[in-house]
Order: sequence, then structure tokens, then C-alpha cells
Amino acid sequence: MKLHDSGLFKQLAYINGEWVSASETLPVHNPATGKVIAHIPMLGASEVRTAIKAAESAFKSWRAKTAAERSTLLRKWYRLILDNQEDLAVLMTAEQGKQLTESRGEVGYGASFIEWYAEEAKRAYGDLIPAAKSSQRIMVTREPVGVVAAITPWNFPNAMIARKVAPALAAGCTIVIKPSELTPLSAFAMAELAQRAGIPAGVINIVTGDAREVGAELTGSSIVRKLSFTGSTAVGKLLMKQCADSVKKVSLELGGNAPFIVFDDADIEQAVQGAIASKYRNSGQTCICMNRLFVQDGIYDEFIQKFSEAVAKLTLGPGLDGEFNQGPLINEAALNKTKDFVEDALAKKGRLLTGGRAHSLGGLFYEPTVLADASMEMKCYQDEIFGPVAPVFRFHYEEDVINMANDTRYGLAAYFYANDLSRVFRVAEALEYGMVAVNEGVLSTEVAPFGGVKESGIGREGSKYGLDEYLEMKYVLLGGINAP
Ligand code: ADP
Repeated sequence: MKLHDSGLFKQLAYINGEWVSASETLPVHNPATGKVIAHIPMLGASEVRTAIKAAESAFKSWRAKTAAERSTLLRKWYRLILDNQEDLAVLMTAEQGKQLTESRGEVGYGASFIEWYAEEAKRAYGDLIPAAKSSQRIMVTREPVGVVAAITPWNFPNAMIARKVAPALAAGCTIVIKPSELTPLSAFAMAELAQRAGIPAGVINIVTGDAREVGAELTGSSIVRKLSFTGSTAVGKLLMKQCADSVKKVSLELGGNAPFIVFDDADIEQAVQGAIASKYRNSGQTCICMNRLFVQDGIYDEFIQKFSEAVAKLTLGPGLDGEFNQGPLINEAALNKTKDFVEDALAKKGRLLTGGRAHSLGGLFYEPTVLADASMEMKCYQDEIFGPVAPVFRFHYEEDVINMANDTRYGLAAYFYANDLSRVFRVAEALEYGMVAVNEGVLSTEVAPFGGVKESGIGREGSKYGLDEYLEMKYVLLGGINAP
């Protein structure tokens, strides 16, 4: 791993502006090679409490800054992240396995939230409401929630942090972040750049350690007023329960089971490209990856032929060695889970069109896979695959496919390709999802609200709405005003 600026390679936690070590450490692996690339501190509960206290004490002066002052610091951080985009991408590819092009894209995507919220910081408007009595005025202001805890996953080691820190800081909150132990280097590098940007000590803190222990401390603390979590539905539910005792505000961005529907009137070439972008990005390891591909009778054979031919051409390799389409999976558990989905589908009469086994590169590489004739009995119908496997279901009626698409406890992203205008509106409105993409395979952007319904989560990230997650309303009644 070669960096232009070796100062961005940090293996220490960041608390109150200081870099902190621990006697016990945990190795970080490069999933493409299996090699250990760093050792990170395993902090205990007392260090986590120190970080929370630091965030509490920094909150007083951070919230007192004007929105313009906070905005200027966020902008400096944004600039430094873009200036160091290549190093941040290399670090990310080394610890996460995604291709460099994707890592560069993610650093840019993460930075876009910081720029966006540097602007939105200035727009936390209030209201003046006409009162019932002429001697009164009703004023509504919006105040920062307070100390925020963020727990983030390994699939987007940079953007999932930027997406939480940017609105939190813009609103005037301070934050303690626990990144995934699998991908902490991106988080430390972002903290290093925040320090260089002049973001004061205690405003951003990064802690690493045993997930359960750190999570219990963050959710159990009465100082922490909000939890923002991105990860699995199972852990999200657990953390939500843990937050109940201190009645914290929570934002949860959890699992998905995205349908991707191709209707007879779709543009097939575009749908093939969209399906590939949606499914195989990050080796299928995103919560908005297409999980179930539904294709209508009239174009089924043509579509699966074109789709599987295009998928068979995708190249695999370690991201630091060259330009490929796909990298490894994150770990052994992910590889085994992917194999299990494929075996289950094949045992239930799925038809393998391409892929279907571990790649000859060995290690954690798995071939991009397409399985035709998928059915509702298969595991992939209900469960999130989180690997490079596309099961294709055949359907005839629009009503049936809507029922199947909604037949899940999840409700994050959905995609469909169609050209009939009435159908576009009908289907977009009938899908029980927080986000719907029509004739597009990629929908994330800082300007739109990202989030799910049902067991996919609570709250939205990004856009003008995302700031509200870090603000509380305050109603002030002004009385005794002499009427003319
Ligand atoms: P994934 O399946 O994507 O790894 P997880 O929900 O397991 O999703 O992990 C997302 C984040 O939640 C990671 O930072 C992980 O360390 C953290 N995490 C996992 N279990 C717990 C827990 N019991 N308490 C707090 N955080 C946890």
C-alpha cells in the first residue's frame, strides 16, 4: 500500500483531539490477499466514556459557533478529503477490497455530503406562528440534539461516516463514531484530515474495540442523545432496544431485499446495464443491491441471455493490482453465505447461466453469478444475499410482480424498467419502499433522502431532510406583548 502522504495511515483511536493506543490490539486484513495490514486498539468501556465526555464538553462551544463558522470548517475538511482522494481510495481498497475506481467514487460521494451540509448548516430555519392571543407570539427554533453516537459498517468505510458526521456537525452536534473493526483505516484517515482542517478537539471522536462492549457504552450513556446506525437489521433492532432506556432519538439504515423489475416495454439494453450496476457494485455487498430480478414473460429469454453474457465478461482481481470489475468478498463468512444461497437455489431447480462457484483466484473471490428460473421457495427470495449472485424470477402480470416485490419485511430500495407512463406512476406508487429508481440502476446522491421503511429502518440521510435527524424543535411562547 503506497500513499503520497504516509500521515494518513493511522492505527490509533482519536479521542478529544489525541491519538490513543491500547495494550490490546486487533489485526486488520486486506481481503484480496489475506495479509495483515494494520493493528487497531481494542479500547475498553472507560475510554469510550472518555470519548463521550470529550464530545459533551466540546458540544458547548461547537453549538455556540455560528452556522457560517461551522460551515467554513466543514468546507476545509471537504477540500482536504478531495485533495487526498487517491490516498483515501488506496486505504479503502486495501482494507475493504473494492476496486480503486469504486473507492475513488466513494470518497467523492462521501465528500459530497460534507459539502452539501456545509451549505445546509446555514438553513436550519425556524418559524414564527400566529398565536391565539394578540399579546403572544409563538416562536419555533431548531437546536442541535447534543452528543451523537454513530456505528457504521464495512461496506462503505468512508461514505457511511461522512453521511452521519456532516449533518451532525452542521446542526451543531458533536459525535463519537465506532467504525467497523474490519475497515477502521478510512475512519482514522478522515479524523486526521478533520484535525488538519481545524475541527476542534472533541467534536469528532473515533473509537474501536469489541463491538458489543462499545455499543453498550454508547447506547447506555445518558449523555448520548442520538444514535445513528447503519448495518444489519438484527443489530439495528438490538441497538434500538438498548436506546429505549434513555429514550434516544434513533436513525437506522438497515438491510434490504431490493426488487429489480423489468417490464416488457422496457429498453432491454439499458435494463441490462442498470441491473449490472445495481447488482455487482462492491461485489454485491450494498444494502441497496438488487436482490431479486423479476423479468416479464415477453422479454424473459432475450433479457437473461443478454444479461448473463454481460455478467460473464466481468473481470475479477485485487484492486491494488490493476483495473477489474469486481474484488473479493469481505471475509470467509460472506463467502460461505454466498455459496449457501447458490447451493440452495440450485437444489430448488434454479438454472445456472454463469458463475456459481468460487473464482479460480481463490481466497475470497466469487464468480459473478446469474441464476434463472428462481422461485419463491428459495432463500434469496426472502433474505439479503449480499454477494454477487442475481436470481431471476419470471412473471406475467403487473399485479403479481408488485405483490412479490412487496412480499418482504424490508423496504429500502426498489428498481424497475418500463416506458409506459401510466405504468411508471402505478408501479412507483405501489412499491412499499423508501426509494424507487425508474429506468436507473444507481440512485444514491447527497441531494436526495436515503432511507427505508418497514424493517429497513427509520429516518433519512442526505438532502434537506437529513438535517432534521440531528435537530430538535423548541417552541418558545412570547407573552405580554402590548397590542396597539
Ligand atoms: P454487517 O452484517 O454489515 O457486518 P453488522 O450489523 O454486523 O452488519 O455491523 C455493522 C456495525 O455494527 C459494525 O460497526 C459492527 O461492528 C457493529 N456491531 C455489530 N454488533 C454490534 C453490537 N452488538 N453492538 C454494537 N455494534 C455492533
